[in-house]
Amino acid sequence: MSHRKKIAVIGAGPAGLMIARELLANDLDVAIFERRECLGGSWALQSLTEIPDVRQGLSHIYSPAFPSLRANFPKQVMEVWGFPYPKGTPTYPSREQICNYLEDFARHSSLIEKIRFNHQFVGLEQIDSSSGSRKWRALTEPDNGEEFSGVVLCNSRYSTPSLPDIKGLSDFTGKVEHSLTYRVPENYRNQRVAVMGTGPSGEDISREISPQATKVYVCAHKGSREHLVPEEGYYGEGNNITRHKDIAECRGKTLILEDGEKLEDVDVLILCTGYQVEDSVITSLKGAFLSGNKLSVAPLYMNLFHPEFPELSVTGMEILGVPFMLFQYQAKVIVRQLKGEITLPPTKQRQYAARRIELMQTGKISLETRRDIAIAQLRRLARLGDVKPPSAEIFLTAQKSSIHRKKYPNTYRDVPWD
Ligand SMILES: Cc1cc2nc3c(=O)[nH]c(=O)nc-3n(C[C@H](O)[C@H](O)[C@H](O)COP(=O)(O)OP(=O)(O)OC[C@H]3O[C@@H](n4cnc5c(N)ncnc54)[C@H](O)[C@@H]3O)c2cc1C
Repeated sequence: MSHRKKIAVIGAGPAGLMIARELLANDLDVAIFERRECLGGSWALQSLTEIPDVRQGLSHIYSPAFPSLRANFPKQVMEVWGFPYPKGTPTYPSREQICNYLEDFARHSSLIEKIRFNHQFVGLEQIDSSSGSRKWRALTEPDNGEEFSGVVLCNSRYSTPSLPDIKGLSDFTGKVEHSLTYRVPENYRNQRVAVMGTGPSGEDISREISPQATKVYVCAHKGSREHLVPEEGYYGEGNNITRHKDIAECRGKTLILEDGEKLEDVDVLILCTGYQVEDSVITSLKGAFLSGNKLSVAPLYMNLFHPEFPELSVTGMEILGVPFMLFQYQAKVIVRQLKGEITLPPTKQRQYAARRIELMQTGKISLETRRDIAIAQLRRLARLGDVKPPSAEIFLTAQKSSIHRKKYPNTYRDVPWD
């Protein structure tokens, strides 16, 4: 019988795959529980026969991917260390290319056989252990009742829509959708569509539906990264997109904006207002309570470890940053912690530090400060993981990509970098 520690990884998206590879490479055994029939997480399509109204709930929708989705980060920061994208992959790969890449990576790293597809993780139970080392039972549907020495939750921060608080939204007589369920532009043929939110999803969706829709109003939600109304011509010439202020109220099929403007006869409102972290699976961690406070899971030591039971961790909860890179640094630290190669501070100190992160995250912090915190956190993870911190070249690439996107908002994925 094997005496290797066995770790449960929840989710076979990029985070789960990268964590699992690191665990296996370090002689820890792994079972990956994935609720869907495929790997790839947010990048794996889930086709929908009908687009639901978000007001009816979207609990059965697991992926925000749409067929034409492409990365908005360059591939250099979406790469698994030591596993490059195939030759000829464009700088901003398509959803399909990313999915194929993740599948190749999973095969190459012998992860496929570790994935229990169609297994929904529903909770965790602490098991009394006479041997002195704590064990946990991962509760899944269907249930295997297996015991684990540690659990890594890689179930993502991109599945529960964050809905804005707009007066009269529940009585709006048009349809209300969320970007989570956006799939193809043909669904908006001859429709007057309002898109709320100007983050990457709002920008991609409004441009894609423009040739099909009668009219596209993009309303700059205050929660979006760029909520200011841009100059004339931002969306290029010869299209039907116009940019407007935030939506203050819905009346019938009319949207009343913050500046008093009225958008009339709106058939569909697509909320591109992002995602939130809610309790769901997290509250079912019996004996190890954590909660979803919209922005993150809390409290988490280093935004990663359960402060009391550090053999439980939650990945990807940094609010800013480059997800693929973050997962790999987190993987290094999780493995070293599970193998006892690093000593974390005592429980009380971890609890205190975790509360501080929680307070800081929920407070009002500028984007620049958040970015600085994210960079400092990567460096700290690198130190603890005993790996090189991200190079200056990587930060420069991320910065160049952001400048490039602002300079060529309509075509940045296909225009070569200056
Ligand atoms: C529209 C959009 C565009 C994006 N563009 C980029 C980009 O260009 N570059 C970039 O780096 N990032 C981008 N992101 C962020 C992207 O989500 C991350 O790149 C990455 O997919 C996050 O990986 P993850 O494994 O944490 O989560 P996911 O990819 O969401 O995977 C989570 C997995 O966990 C599974 N799961 C969830 N709950 C359970 C459960 N209870 N039991 C079992 N399994 C469960 C899910 O089915 C899923 O397979 C984008 C996100 C969105 C929404």
